[in-house]
Amino acid sequence: MKGKGLSREEYKKLEKRLARKRRHVWSQLTDEGRKDALKYADDYKKFLDRAKTEREASEAIMEASDGYGFVPFDRAGEDAHRLMWGFKGKMCALVVVGRRPITEGALIIASHIDAPRLDLKQNPLYEDLDMAYLKTHYYGGIKKFQWLTRPLALHGVAIKEDGRAVSINIGEDPLDPVFTINDILPHLAYKVQADKKISEAVTGEKLNVIFGGIPLAGPDDMKESVKLSILNLLNERYGLVEEDLVSAELEFVPAGPARDVGLDRAFVGAYGHDDRACAYASFMAIAQQKRPDNTLIALFLDKEEIGSDGNTGAKSRLLEAVMYGLVRRSKVSLETDTLLGAFMRSKAISGDVTAGVDPDYLEVHEKRNDALMGYGICLTKYTGSRGKVGANDAHAEYMGWIRGVWNSAGVIWQAGELGKVDEGGGGTVAKYLAEQGMDVVDAGTPLLSMHSPFEVAHKADLYMTYRAYRAFYGEGKK
Ligand code: MN
Ligand code: MN
Repeated sequence: MKGKGLSREEYKKLEKRLARKRRHVWSQLTDEGRKDALKYADDYKKFLDRAKTEREASEAIMEASDGYGFVPFDRAGEDAHRLMWGFKGKMCALVVVGRRPITEGALIIASHIDAPRLDLKQNPLYEDLDMAYLKTHYYGGIKKFQWLTRPLALHGVAIKEDGRAVSINIGEDPLDPVFTINDILPHLAYKVQADKKISEAVTGEKLNVIFGGIPLAGPDDMKESVKLSILNLLNERYGLVEEDLVSAELEFVPAGPARDVGLDRAFVGAYGHDDRACAYASFMAIAQQKRPDNTLIALFLDKEEIGSDGNTGAKSRLLEAVMYGLVRRSKVSLETDTLLGAFMRSKAISGDVTAGVDPDYLEVHEKRNDALMGYGICLTKYTGSRGKVGANDAHAEYMGWIRGVWNSAGVIWQAGELGKVDEGGGGTVAKYLAEQGMDVVDAGTPLLSMHSPFEVAHKADLYMTYRAYRAFYGEGKK
């Protein structure tokens, strides 16, 4: 015999109490919250436009921090509570000193400020068929075909023999020229591209950027007169000679500003959301903190996209240097295990973007466990590939703590991973932080078209990333 069962109301009540539902951020926000989210996205777009390279991002963060009362470590008085620290112009850290001694651990958010791009080779400039080109070597994981036939800007620095730095930024001002990598016309592409695998259709050695085409007027029999003309322009405008390009870090990045995407302007399309979405969120979150209990640290790292090696990357001892400085300032007696103890009592977020589910590629996503666009910051317990290899894999206790913090602060979040099992995978700086003994978990903004010249993020997710980081740090200004 069929029992009576629950009423519709009882059913709903039970469901609400027991089941977890992912909720779209927009449907959860108040009018004020929505306004705040849109304003946040507008400010973030300005940051994106100002900070297209790791050097520019580091500089932008340091400059803005100045306005929020952060003082450089080496110039900070004894009772200064807001500290900043930069290294090599490519990474930086912000600290808000807490009431408790640093030995009780810090709350750390680490993000990265480098992004996939095309770097110049050491001997980049050449001439072929009366056109000048620059040879590039790509940085980070790119799909090479995405970089063809689009306007590129040249950003970076050349260091003269005497140490003087020459800054270069060409292609962002609407009056500037831009640069581009040409592609072969479809009429002639059958054998050279169309019949090949997509990963082989455009090779690294074809990523040559067109840079000039007017020969220097002179005797008819002179060779490479376009190249010489370009060198002449570089010399007149920047004081450079060809050898200066050896001691340069010049990067081709997509030209032009971040844009709203969609008729309803739901998204921000831009170069470099990975990982400025998280870098900017952690900056805004720490800048608003006053005097927390535990010390807060925001770490902005370089070299993540090439494996975190190098002395400005997460595998270096930068965080240790910051922590050491804090221990020294706090006047606790420094035993051999003081630093390690401080790290082991610390909590960290590895702030990095994740893949949002793309409805056109459901074959690589697991839609119950991948991040949905517009559903908030994505908490990612583990990354890695082929059975979590290379993952930090956060502890259940830590996951429990962080969701408690977010729930009580009204943060809309989702839990997910990157793609189907065995479909691919990726890593973040989480495991390098974990090496120091602290608890770490990945949490960041879902993106579409990650690592492309025009990545797409939902404004609701950008905003919730900031709200989540702020809650992690202990809130602060509303
Ligand atoms: Mn990243
Ligand atoms: Mn990346």
